[in-house]
Amino acid sequence: MHSLISIFKHLVNLIFPQTCIRCGVAGVPLCKDCITKLPQAREAEHSFITAIFDYRDPSVRQAIWQFKYRNARKVAESFGEKLYEELLGDLGDSLHISKNESFLLIPIPLHKKRLQERGYNQSELLAREILKYDTEGIFELTSHALIRTRATNAQAKKEKRAARLENLRGAFSANPELVCKKNIILIDDVTTTGATLAEARKVLLKAGARSVRALTVAH
Ligand SMILES: [Zn+2]
Repeated sequence: MHSLISIFKHLVNLIFPQTCIRCGVAGVPLCKDCITKLPQAREAEHSFITAIFDYRDPSVRQAIWQFKYRNARKVAESFGEKLYEELLGDLGDSLHISKNESFLLIPIPLHKKRLQERGYNQSELLAREILKYDTEGIFELTSHALIRTRATNAQAKKEKRAARLENLRGAFSANPELVCKKNIILIDDVTTTGATLAEARKVLLKAGARSVRALTVAH
């Protein structure tokens, strides 16, 4: 059944080839030229979070929507290079990234039910793109160190802050063996209030992580 769905998706891509959301050029959801023109993100609510693009921009929103709900996996390629540049740029400076110390990339996990529905974790695809550029081997990727133990209610986004936080409590569990004494960079597509990243960070620090930062495509 799953392979039938993927064949169907492949056919859809053949019939409707991917074009740039912003300028219409064929091949990718966002072309290199348009990416350089996207507005920068505002500062996130938490200082441990770095976001690159402004989520209020229609092209950014559209790209991320396609990425999550329309199987547009190539969006990861469009954004991966920017994420890597950010890791070696300002964020890298503040982390004192050097060849002597490795950093663990942890994509924000999906609950296994949602992973089955979607077929992929968009945050993991982003992290994998970062690794493609990391020829010096500064970054490692682990998708098993942090697990989503509870499916959080998507509706909660619209609820009040307290309800949202309550919804997230106990949503993650970390493996101390994999995260102990590690410098961790959480990877996600979008941050809005930062509550999800803050909860994941709390769990990782509790499990013994040395430091936890977060990098997202948009805010
Ligand atoms: Zn374009």
